[in-house]
Amino acid sequence: MSRIAGNEQSHRIATDVVVVGAGIVGLAVAWRLAARRGLGVVVVDRGVPGREASWVGAGMLAPATEAQFGEQELLALTLAGNACWDGFAAELEAASGLPAGLRRCGTLHLALDRDEAESLRRLHRFQTDAGLPVEWLTPSRARELEPGLAPACAGGILSPHEGEVDPRQTCAALLRACERAGVHVLAGDEVVEALLDGDGAIRGVVTTSGTRIDAGHVVLATGAWGAPWLPAAARPPVRPVKGQIVNLAHPAGERIAEHNVWTPGIYVVPRADGRVCLGATVEEMGFDVTVTAGGVHELLREAYRVLPAVAELDFVEAIAGLRPGSPDNMPLLGRGALDGLIVATGHYRNGILLAPITGDVVAALVAGEEPPVPISRFAPDRFAVRT
Ligand SMILES: Cc1cc2nc3c(=O)[nH]c(=O)nc-3n(C[C@H](O)[C@H](O)[C@H](O)COP(=O)(O)OP(=O)(O)OC[C@H]3O[C@@H](n4cnc5c(N)ncnc54)[C@H](O)[C@@H]3O)c2cc1C
Repeated sequence: MSRIAGNEQSHRIATDVVVVGAGIVGLAVAWRLAARRGLGVVVVDRGVPGREASWVGAGMLAPATEAQFGEQELLALTLAGNACWDGFAAELEAASGLPAGLRRCGTLHLALDRDEAESLRRLHRFQTDAGLPVEWLTPSRARELEPGLAPACAGGILSPHEGEVDPRQTCAALLRACERAGVHVLAGDEVVEALLDGDGAIRGVVTTSGTRIDAGHVVLATGAWGAPWLPAAARPPVRPVKGQIVNLAHPAGERIAEHNVWTPGIYVVPRADGRVCLGATVEEMGFDVTVTAGGVHELLREAYRVLPAVAELDFVEAIAGLRPGSPDNMPLLGRGALDGLIVATGHYRNGILLAPITGDVVAALVAGEEPPVPISRFAPDRFAVRT
């Protein structure tokens, strides 16, 4: 349980776990710790919970479609993360009384010319060698599944086990479930200092409001912002990778496609209620979140090339967010360089997909148990220079 003492200006809180960052990752971790393990949890966010990368993310659950040659370990984690989602969503809906936003719709990964089809054939071989339940699609079979596809479709891959979630709904449900489980959420307060003891352990944090939070464990879920307030050796090497998306909606709430549709230039994520998310640019621009005419143009052009019906949709918004990128594009997940520190960041393009399994992994680590999946390959200290 969390205990709070002090006046308005300067509080002192003692708790079992403090989670820094209330994006989808921090909220999933907090909920699992409080609801499943019965621990006292405080979550701190410098802004509004769920309003950074997790507000912008398209929410594709696409481990096979996103698979890259040479990233087998990441694939094992993303597949396990995808498998967690159905149970997680059902539990979250029961705990919060709100929709978790999950739709199991499958993904069509499409080629729009012969060169793209050749490269997709190679990916299909890689996926079948890895035992993934994917199906090669001729152009006519692809159009049978999605009648709105452009005539340019030159074949593709169906990944039926994939899906999408609306991360805004998930975060709203997580916040409610956290509140119901007794999690104390401190919004609009930034962690600026670590409480260290002399033996290389972290014992809590201090925020800009002067609140001191003493905790047995500190979970770092700060997304692209890392932790400049930690000693250099304990800071996760994350960087912001900008992504712009465009959100559209069908005026009568109809779906223009049943599946996620993915090409080398775009992905189109149709929500259950006729909204459609087009994503996403990948830009190394530091902490810039400006929406550009070029970014929006590229997304609309590429979406129109594969699904011309997007032109009929209402424009809702264009928005940019910051993916937490790591040097090898894989998450930083596990015990940190300080005793009591657990790192859960660097999820890059897969943070929505990996939020439930990250919650389970961190809950196991806090409880001193073996995590449900192997995580040694994602050790936060794997980039440390050893002397
Ligand atoms: C355009 C785009 C499309 C994407 N599409 C997908 C997709 O289809 N599928 C998928 O799985 N993933 C996708 N992602 C990636 C996914 O959105 C992210 O990996 C995920 O949201 C990261 O969650 P997070 O909780 O780690 O970070 P965030 O949501 O950014 O949350 C981090 C939080 O930490 C807080 N914080 C930081 N520092 C401090 C501090 N010192 N004190 C207090 N609070 C602090 C911030 O205010 C923030 O709220 C996409 C991302 C983008 C930008």
